[in-house]
Amino acid sequence: MPKGETLNEFNNGQPFAGSAEVRRGKLRGMTDASEHFFFLCPRCADNTILQILDFGVMRDAPATYDLEHRAKAKRDFKIAMKIHCLKCKLMDFVEISNDAWQGGKITSDPLVEEPSVYSN
Ligand SMILES: [Zn+2]
Repeated sequence: MPKGETLNEFNNGQPFAGSAEVRRGKLRGMTDASEHFFFLCPRCADNTILQILDFGVMRDAPATYDLEHRAKAKRDFKIAMKIHCLKCKLMDFVEISNDAWQGGKITSDPLVEEPSVYSN
């Protein structure tokens, strides 16, 4: 297990992965009137907010990853979330971390589709 990774009860300890419905640029999100961030259902495509049913801290450790480009980072982390749409019943997974891709233009990746709302 890499440094900082922890066992937890997320997804009942079962393997998980986001489906094709959330990969390749299909999962969007936005803030409300505050700084609170929401994921939006990729299936409903009408800005329906997804619930976060569960989360697991998969990694939380002092920063060691690529410090040459992340000199100000205090910690390395990865959080996995189980997401759900009340409207269409989508159930899926997403992860957020700060020790993977940390800069540049995501739509420059040929594997990421560019949503029309993000055309610039
Ligand atoms: Zn939905």
